[in-house]
Amino acid sequence: MSWPRYALATFVATLAAVGLPGCDGRPAQAPGPVRTPKESAEQASLVIMDTRGDVIIYTDTEAQGRLAYEAALARLKTIERLLNRYDPASELSAVNRAAGGPPVIVSRTTARAVIQARHLWQTTGGAFNPLVGSLVALWTQCEAERRLPTDEQIQSALLLLNMDEVEVAEGGAADGTSSCRLARAGMQLDLGGMAKGWAAQEAVAAIRRCEGVRAALVNLGGDGACWSEPGGGPRGTEEPGASRPPWRRPWRFGLQDPRTVSRKILAPLEATRGAVVTSGNTYRYYEIDGRRYSHVLNPRTGRPVENCIASATVVHPDGGTADGLATACMVLGTGKSIELLERLPGAEGLILELSEGRLLPCPTEGFEQYLPSRKLEF
Ligand code: AMP
Ligand code: MG
Repeated sequence: MSWPRYALATFVATLAAVGLPGCDGRPAQAPGPVRTPKESAEQASLVIMDTRGDVIIYTDTEAQGRLAYEAALARLKTIERLLNRYDPASELSAVNRAAGGPPVIVSRTTARAVIQARHLWQTTGGAFNPLVGSLVALWTQCEAERRLPTDEQIQSALLLLNMDEVEVAEGGAADGTSSCRLARAGMQLDLGGMAKGWAAQEAVAAIRRCEGVRAALVNLGGDGACWSEPGGGPRGTEEPGASRPPWRRPWRFGLQDPRTVSRKILAPLEATRGAVVTSGNTYRYYEIDGRRYSHVLNPRTGRPVENCIASATVVHPDGGTADGLATACMVLGTGKSIELLERLPGAEGLILELSEGRLLPCPTEGFEQYLPSRKLEF
């Protein structure tokens, strides 16, 4: 079917590695090739985050699509430049270096990210804790030294997790500048637990500020945010047989099998707007003495989480919130996670528990609206 009123501008980019906050800090690699489908007139090379990503934009004209795409990339690059804690030149690194000292002037973007992270810390009762940076550093160092941290080391790191000791002002000073201060020496912010969802959301927002945009998806390694014009509605709400242009159809995400690194899709998920984010231990973990430990740390114990959750998928209108909640679910365990998600307006989720090689799906009540088949079967 053709849609003569609109020229379709679709851009699918392969993004190469550089290490965003919370990613494993590997050094930057050369940009990967960028693939574009034949509808696109755009070719671009780009380097973003340590993940493969896709940006798809529907616009009225191809030129508008190109501009919107460039706006998304610029936003992603800015976020990476500001918040990559493995980059000594980032604002987050400057804030971390100054811990225990005076406030550091930061951009509004950085201030907003820290404020949202603090909000997530409150919402999740501390399960999501953006100050895990010092604990992450401890476990990373111990992994390199092939030993477990000592109790004293864990106790010292636990003293650095109080988000009430983070002062952050967004344009708050008399001259409108934003600033951030970690009150205690040694404190380290690590926004990796919400970075991908937050960045995807910000990129979608940047796309939406452009002219002629009908729909957009920014997918960073399976975590993504999307938007489309009203009228798409959840599947099944349109008249039977009514055909819709692609930008009025829901975006499709994949629920991945957490038992394998093959990225096998267990079930498709569909969303018209908002973000779909998954946390799990499939791809990233600490390995010490032949044993794997979760890369999600429990801020109460200072140790990697140990429970039967293989993955936690969260759908939420806001990308940073979806990402932070998914990480928090890994800490909270199934019961408390479902309770939390049911309590939060707009949040839905699916926890996959693993027992003797079998997956047990534990969804919130409204999660099935994101399943085209309305059923969880695998
Ligand atoms: P995600 O993959 O979104 O669950 O994020 C995991 C990353 O978030 C880790 O690699 C750490 O950088 C960071 N992190 C680990 N534990 C926590 C936690 N309890 N709260 C917030 N961030 C965390
Ligand atoms: Mg997360």
